[in-house]
Amino acid sequence: MIIIDGSKGEGGGQILRTSLSLSAITGKEIVIEKIRAGREKPGLKRQHLTCVKAVAEICSAEVSTVEVGASSLEFKPGQIKGGNYHFNIGTAGSVTLVAQTIIPILLMAKTPSRVTITGGTHVSFAPTWDFFSECYLPEIRRMGANVEASLESYGFSPEGGGKITLSITPFDNSSRNKNYSLIELGEFKGGTITGVVSDIKRKIAETEVEIVFKRLSDLILGKEIQEVESVGPGNYCIAKLQYERASVVFSSIGCIGRSRKTVANEIVHAVQKFLKSNKACEAHLADQLLLPYCMFVLGGINYFNPNELEWLSIQEKSLHFTTNMDVICLFK
Ligand code: ATP
Repeated sequence: MIIIDGSKGEGGGQILRTSLSLSAITGKEIVIEKIRAGREKPGLKRQHLTCVKAVAEICSAEVSTVEVGASSLEFKPGQIKGGNYHFNIGTAGSVTLVAQTIIPILLMAKTPSRVTITGGTHVSFAPTWDFFSECYLPEIRRMGANVEASLESYGFSPEGGGKITLSITPFDNSSRNKNYSLIELGEFKGGTITGVVSDIKRKIAETEVEIVFKRLSDLILGKEIQEVESVGPGNYCIAKLQYERASVVFSSIGCIGRSRKTVANEIVHAVQKFLKSNKACEAHLADQLLLPYCMFVLGGINYFNPNELEWLSIQEKSLHFTTNMDVICLFK
C-alpha cells in the first residue's frame, strides 16, 4: 500500500488525480491523507470527488466512504474496464481535469470507451477546453495514444452544465512513439485572439480582444468574437500561437469583479512570459504531460527518471511539475 501525503509540494488536487490514475494503472492500493491541505478550503471538492467516483467505477475499486470535504481516502483498485461512462460533476468543476485523470486509465483498458463529462469547460485554474483539445490532446496523440474529443456544450462558473465527449481506443504498444520529445516548436506561423461571451454584452469580449490585439500587435494577426450558448453567463479569451509543430494556447477567464483589462492583461503577460523563456513547452502543459509520457513513451512509470528531462524544453519547472514528478516516483 502506498501512503500519499496530499499536503506536499503544491498541496492541491493534482496529487489526488495523479495518484488515482496511477493506482488504477499499477493496481497498487493507496491511502491519500491531508487531501488538498495546501488550499484555502482543503479536502475534496466536487471535481475531485467526481474523479474518485469515476476512477472507482472504471476499475471496480473498493473505496472508503468519501464525500465533499473529506481529507483522506483509501482506494483499492480492481480491473480496468472500457465501456460507456457518464460523469456529472454537478458544479462548474473542470471537465478537462476529470478527463485527464481517466484518459490514461482507459487507454490501458482492453476495449474502447466512450465517455461524457458534464461540468465546467472554461474555468479558472484548470485547462480550458481549447487548451485541452489544442495542446494536451495533440501531444498525447504524438506519443501514440488514440483519443478523440468533442465539445458538446459550454460550461462556465458557477452554473457549469458544459459537456465534453471522449472516444478512447485502447493503447497499442506498437504505436508507442519512443522518440517523442517537445524540444522545438519550429517556425512561428501567426497568432490569433478570440473573445467569447455567453449571455453577456458582446462589448466585453470586444474590449478584451482589442487590448490583447494592440499590446501583442507584432504577434496577433487575427481576432474574433464568438457569442455562444450556455446554461449560465460566461466570458473568456483565448490567445493561440501557431507554430509549425504545435499550437500554444493561453486562456483567461472573465467573471464578476474581474475587469476586462485584467482578463486581457493575464493573456498578454502569459504570452510574453512564455516567449521570453524561449522554450517549447508551456509551463501548465509540462506538468500535464508527465504521466502520459511515462505510460505511452517510456512504457511504464518504472522507467521514469526525474533527472532525465532532455525530452522536454520546459518554460519553467513549476511547483505543479515537481510535485507531480514526486507523486509519480512514489509508484515506481
Ligand atoms: P485546487 O488548486 O483547488 O486543488 P485542482 O484540483 O484543480 O485545484 P491543481 O493541483 O491546482 O488542482 O491542478 C490544476 C491543474 O490545472 C494543473 O495541471 C495545471 O497545470 C492546470 N492549469 C491551471 N491553470 C491552467 C491554465 N491557465 N492553462 C492550462 N492548464 C492550467
